[in-house]
Amino acid sequence: MAQWVGSCDRVLEVNVSRRTTRVFNISKEDRRRYLGGKGLALRYLAHRLRPGTDPLGPDNVLAVFGGVVVGSGAPCSARFSAVTKSPLTQLVASSSCGGPFGIALKTAGYEGLIVLGQASKPMVLEILEDDVRFLDADHLWGRDIPATQEALELGRKDGDLVIGPAGENLVLFANIASGHRFLGRGGFGAVLGSKRIKAIVARGGAFHAVPADPLGFDKACRRATATIHRNRFTGHLYRNAGTASHVDLCQAGAILPIHNFQDGQDPRASQVSGWAMKERFGAKPSTCRPCTILCGHQGTFSDQQTRQWPEYETVGLLGTNLGLFDPETIAVWNAQCGRLGLDTISCGGVLGYVMEASEKGLITSPLRFGSPQGVAEAIDAMAFRKGFGDDMAQGVRRLAEKYGGTSFAMHVKGLELPAYDPRGSWGQGLAYAVANRGGCHLSATLFPLEVFLGFLKPRTPQAKAHFVRFFESLYAGINSLPTCLFTTYAYLLEAPIARLTPKPILAWTMRHLPALAVRLMDLRVFTRLFETMYGEKLSPREFLQAGDRIVVLERLLNAMEGVRRKDDTLPERILAEPRPCDTTARQEKRPWWRRFVAAGCPEPPGPAQNPPLLALDSMLDKYYTLRGYTRNGLPMAKTLRTLKVTVPFQDGFDIVPGRDTPKDKVVQIFFWILGRAMQSASRRDAVFRRQLASWPKGLTVLFKVLPYGPRTALRVDDAGKLRALGDTVSEREADLIIGFKNMDTAFRMLTAQLSTPDAFAQNRLSVVGDLAIAMQLTRLLDRVQCLLYPKWLAQRLVKRVPSMPTLEKWGKRAWLYLVGIPLGL
Ligand code: SF4
Repeated sequence: MAQWVGSCDRVLEVNVSRRTTRVFNISKEDRRRYLGGKGLALRYLAHRLRPGTDPLGPDNVLAVFGGVVVGSGAPCSARFSAVTKSPLTQLVASSSCGGPFGIALKTAGYEGLIVLGQASKPMVLEILEDDVRFLDADHLWGRDIPATQEALELGRKDGDLVIGPAGENLVLFANIASGHRFLGRGGFGAVLGSKRIKAIVARGGAFHAVPADPLGFDKACRRATATIHRNRFTGHLYRNAGTASHVDLCQAGAILPIHNFQDGQDPRASQVSGWAMKERFGAKPSTCRPCTILCGHQGTFSDQQTRQWPEYETVGLLGTNLGLFDPETIAVWNAQCGRLGLDTISCGGVLGYVMEASEKGLITSPLRFGSPQGVAEAIDAMAFRKGFGDDMAQGVRRLAEKYGGTSFAMHVKGLELPAYDPRGSWGQGLAYAVANRGGCHLSATLFPLEVFLGFLKPRTPQAKAHFVRFFESLYAGINSLPTCLFTTYAYLLEAPIARLTPKPILAWTMRHLPALAVRLMDLRVFTRLFETMYGEKLSPREFLQAGDRIVVLERLLNAMEGVRRKDDTLPERILAEPRPCDTTARQEKRPWWRRFVAAGCPEPPGPAQNPPLLALDSMLDKYYTLRGYTRNGLPMAKTLRTLKVTVPFQDGFDIVPGRDTPKDKVVQIFFWILGRAMQSASRRDAVFRRQLASWPKGLTVLFKVLPYGPRTALRVDDAGKLRALGDTVSEREADLIIGFKNMDTAFRMLTAQLSTPDAFAQNRLSVVGDLAIAMQLTRLLDRVQCLLYPKWLAQRLVKRVPSMPTLEKWGKRAWLYLVGIPLGL
């Protein structure tokens, strides 16, 4: 058997319209910049895919890449990545899979495969060491995935990519199967179906990759394996109870989706946890190969059939989210989706939407929460696009556009939401909102830090942007080695710095010094595996920078399709609707509250009854700054230059050179001062007290530079005083919004170059909310400005300077400057 040292650099490009092939080599520069896997697949997609391409047309591109670590024998290294333009979101989709195709392709002699064009009739693409065959597949068209795999006569070293009826029928969330694992999310199956490719088979075993530094590689593998065995998640939870072990953790943290995300907890949840499945069905590993963690399991069910346990996402979306808690039924639907080639997350999301829409009378369907009646038939109808199944096959976004109910259409950018409710994990909410492929839990996972491990507080925006950015880049890097994302638990948490630092210190550093915390993360297991296999140095900084580059390139491609800040959002339900469990979950964390309620007292007023709404806007601002995007979410020219990101098809798309200007900074500082000054004055000034006594408690006022500029907010607390909330309040939470037309207006007003009356007269200020309160607020603002500025300046700002005895004025002014503003008193 022939062998390479380090990596196989060959890429096979196949045009199925013309039945032609081309082989080219990956350049050293591309390898350093994009590593392999997702990174290289994206780099080649970017140079072939024009903005506006029809995802189901002949011009779409499907790129499937392994990487340096694939097939090396390193722990969990059976992964490969794919990218394409998604028919579901119309944006770039990426996916990672642990099936045999990656290793088979590599041992057939290719690190990557790029598929172009559209065949005129069904075909199977067969890749051999020295040949590519275009085989007729008429006899396979219409068969389900297991039947097709059987007909392909796959050997021990072969790997497959196969679609089922869902892919053939262009269901927008159809999967591609490889062995019993899947390339899911975004409709990869529909893209292959549109190219009329029933299967791609790589006949592997001709080549063998050996590490450039065998001793170093062995050592790196031993270290990786030891950390995996030692870690609680990888060495215990996943190995024994699979990813469905998340059920208990999510139930405790109130992030388990119930009834289409109407609630986050249910007492029956433990019936579908991995531990319950282990007890009922037994556990036999059924995993990607090779794998050291072993998260996949099979069990024997009551009909004596052996089936794969459903993963956590499937349990969440096809089970608890539909109000169903029987793991056996969920496993049967999971197998049905697997046979037909449907993504279980999107399928469950669609069923959840249809059940709620049916209950609300928007759709006529027998599907109801808590009842398995009609679900199996609905899954079949989706895959074969029969009757109403044709609509369901289009996903939640299009269903809601047609039938209504957008407020409970649980998707981001068209991709159905995974099974972690962001109302109990704000960082995960930000990760969903900014994920390039849409509602995705694998672009950055914050819920383990917020809910499972308790390092970050789940319901604050604090530090979330830093960690979302870090995990996005890290995961993009891992998917480009590629290896399994679950290794992150072991490689990061079992590194000496994390293991030896007391948890409270670790948590404090992560919350209060996130920039330092992410720099201290030890990524050396990942980089050592790459270095020793490939034979060239890769520092943790370069590894993360490659991840940054991949994320930004993906964002740039999406920006060229029209993605902006308005798209980086969450479903209305998540942003505006508190859940019944929010009160319970908070009570559980506070024993005094439990006692208070148990004593028969009514629930205390305050945050428990009005849980804070997810502060997405402020997290977005911070995230964009860290990523080097404009406030509208576009990568800046400077960011692209630094990361050396280029794309050829930029016709008509302007890359914005912008960044925070000195004016932005000045306005942010003035907003902060103004907020603190208003808060302080409300505690010491009689005019403020009188005026605020007539305002409703909880009233929230937001000052905002339109459209995406700095902001600051004030809220009337229970004592009738103002509280400065900084930039953490979104427009949804505000009762009154004072909008500055643009940055220039805000700058001129705050630096006393434009008076408030003139700004109103010139339509430079807008008010949304109660006009009477807005006028009273203006008078209070005048009063504070007269205390903040000397008289000659104040006269330029307000219509009439309020009269105040000199001693009182100087006393209050001194208090504001010396105590009120610095200390917030
Ligand atoms: S841990 Fe699970 S997903 Fe990861 S490689 Fe192993 S079996 Fe596959």
